Amino acid sequence: MNDLLKAIAERVLLGDGAMGTQLQQAGLESGGCGEAWNLDHPERVLAIQRAYVAAGSDCLITNTFGASRVMLERHGEGDRVAAINRAGAELARAAFDGRAGFVLGDIGPFGGLMEPYGEIARATVEAAFREQAQALVAGGADAVIVETQTALEELEIAIAAAREAGAKVVIGSIAFDKMLDEDDVRTMMGISPEVAAEFLVAHGADVAALNCGTGVDMPMAATIVRRYRATCGLPVMAQPNAGQPVLENLQVLYKQSAEQMAAGLPELLAAGVRIVGGCCGSTPAHIARLRAGLDGWNRRGGAGAEEGALSDVAPAEPGDALTRRRDSEWGA
Ligand SMILES: [Zn+2]
Repeated sequence: MNDLLKAIAERVLLGDGAMGTQLQQAGLESGGCGEAWNLDHPERVLAIQRAYVAAGSDCLITNTFGASRVMLERHGEGDRVAAINRAGAELARAAFDGRAGFVLGDIGPFGGLMEPYGEIARATVEAAFREQAQALVAGGADAVIVETQTALEELEIAIAAAREAGAKVVIGSIAFDKMLDEDDVRTMMGISPEVAAEFLVAHGADVAALNCGTGVDMPMAATIVRRYRATCGLPVMAQPNAGQPVLENLQVLYKQSAEQMAAGLPELLAAGVRIVGGCCGSTPAHIARLRAGLDGWNRRGGAGAEEGALSDVAPAEPGDALTRRRDSEWGA
């Protein structure tokens, strides 16, 4: 069995938090190409990922969310696709600084619609994901995570590309949105967790995951994890947002503190999640708080949620709230 799959069979692993907001805090302009920093400002990307390792992340997601050719060409970076992705994987590995850890090579949506609904040919998307997956694997990624997916056609292409590139583990991560009038979730394209789970199994993903999505906080993530596990036998990964979005001055903000987010951890663990990370609004402070809760859980052999993983959690620090949703997740 692959190391990552073996590890999550034995204990619950901790992922990392948001990258886009951290890049902006490090000086990336709104609308700028954060993935190009893998080559132009590698020390800044490394500093962010080192902060996540210091917070206790077992898995780092590469800074390549928008690094498919389709996305990079919008920034005039089409001639650096392979180098940006390869460097992304190498930087994440370097951030572990010799410690044990897993590098998850990130493939985000290409940010459009395929023919016949949109203007981008299926073959263009296939070639773009193939190229990206190959560079991530060549850079040493332990797994490929296909993230923030809402359409099954695109998910299928990306999973196939990762498999073809020789990724040892393929994670398919879906962005569900909470529906307005009922306590249920669907992707933007109308896909339910059950349909997604069956699709991931049928297309050879190793891990069924969820990330981001409107209204997907810790409790909603726990609900989706339960629905995945009721439908399929794959291990499940969850990267919820830091609470519910708040609109202020035309910006979507996630204000949940690390302590508030960690309060949802026992329910998520009880639902059977095997990798926990954070999406929008999560910071190294949030990840550090989740680390404390996870350590208690793993020490007890994955039991005792009633006793409260929170008893292991340190008191809150101010100033870790209020981070902005990563631009790239708007598909900009
Ligand atoms: Zn997000």
